[in-house]
Amino acid sequence: MPAKVDMDKIVSLCKRRGLIFPSSEIYGGLASCWDYGPMGVELKRNVRDAWWKSIVHERADVVGLDTSIMMHPGVWAASGHIDSFTDPLVECKSCHLRWRADAVEGKGCPKCGGELTEPRMFNLMFKTSMGPVEEEASTVYLRPETAQGIFVNFDNVITTSRKKLPLGIAQIGKSFRNEITPGNFIFRTREFEHMELEYFVKPGTDEKWLDYWVKERFDWYVKLGIRKENLRLRQHGKDELAHYARDCYDIDYLFPMGWSELEGIANRGDFDLIQHAKHSGKELGYYDAEAGEKYVPYVIEPSAGVDRSVLAFLIDAYDEEEVEGEKRTLLHLHRSLAPVKVAVLPLSRNEKLTPLAKEVFNKLCPNFVTDYDDSQSIGRRYRRQDEIGTPFCVTIDFESLEDKQVTIRERDSLAQIRVPIEELGKSLEAKLKGEAFDASPLWATRDK
Ligand SMILES: [Zn+2]
Repeated sequence: MPAKVDMDKIVSLCKRRGLIFPSSEIYGGLASCWDYGPMGVELKRNVRDAWWKSIVHERADVVGLDTSIMMHPGVWAASGHIDSFTDPLVECKSCHLRWRADAVEGKGCPKCGGELTEPRMFNLMFKTSMGPVEEEASTVYLRPETAQGIFVNFDNVITTSRKKLPLGIAQIGKSFRNEITPGNFIFRTREFEHMELEYFVKPGTDEKWLDYWVKERFDWYVKLGIRKENLRLRQHGKDELAHYARDCYDIDYLFPMGWSELEGIANRGDFDLIQHAKHSGKELGYYDAEAGEKYVPYVIEPSAGVDRSVLAFLIDAYDEEEVEGEKRTLLHLHRSLAPVKVAVLPLSRNEKLTPLAKEVFNKLCPNFVTDYDDSQSIGRRYRRQDEIGTPFCVTIDFESLEDKQVTIRERDSLAQIRVPIEELGKSLEAKLKGEAFDASPLWATRDK
């Protein structure tokens, strides 16, 4: 079983292998902002796609949406964000560092011990102004969640999609929160990507659907390779519930800094639709033709972060082992999440091997994210692919010129098989879908 990993190792691997860089690095960086590099952008896209596939494409009762980041300010008055989306903030009178009051233990400044001010409420929404004149009336906010874009479009979707309840509306997009204390790499950042589903149901069926979505979302992480023992479910206490929530569960992950929230699944009741109906003056309800009644639906909301999920997948996949006396670092990423699916590696940069290797690459790249690498020794190239979690490496050697066969090497087991170039694409496709690498069940080696 992989050893527990500290965050520094993950940060350093991400930098070294082009997954994640500090933002604006040549200017010294910008606090808690991160850029996804060539490998990171693929990983992040795969996480997003896996969510969208399981939430939208594989279901008949969920549709997608993509709403704007800036919305009418009335939205945030109705949702409660202008009044209640706040954290208590204290400032040190000597060093002027600011802290979240509830995160400070004891009375003094955690940095210098100085005296702290009384807490004041600090709104976490980013404010900007729209248009050329900066005045009160032009104030807009960057959305702190994607959910409100869904609520305000409820009527549009219901009337155009011809779907019945229960109906889910899903959205993935950037959200912004001016956190007082961001940190832990990409765990808490001020700009992040949300994956949210608002699942509208008939009141009275809400508790059943909450249970359903809690299980569904928990299983999603497990299916994509996160070990069950690193996940836990936690129900919120009554004193902990947000103002809009009737009930809420967190799926926590055992991050290096301890158990922390990976996703929240809340029963928001009819709070949002009622608030928006009140503030907009538009009726937001649902006519249930079968029951012959009209009601305001309740909503179950699984809300996750793309970046936070990426971090959990990276940490859970990280492993170090010894192979023939040498240390090997690798990511056991699920094949569907791995940034690169296949690496084409000619044994050496030899003029006889290059044309065939290029031919193999050109054959594979329309169907799989494929990397071509002929620099340095084959051993170093294998290690580079292991570190980004590439499931399969295809090696072209001098024998390949004669017998038109290549070697496929599997990342986790290091097993190798030889296949005709003609069958390579088909063989890789089957293996990426989960077909055993050989007669032995190599995919099962992961948990041993
Ligand atoms: Zn201080």
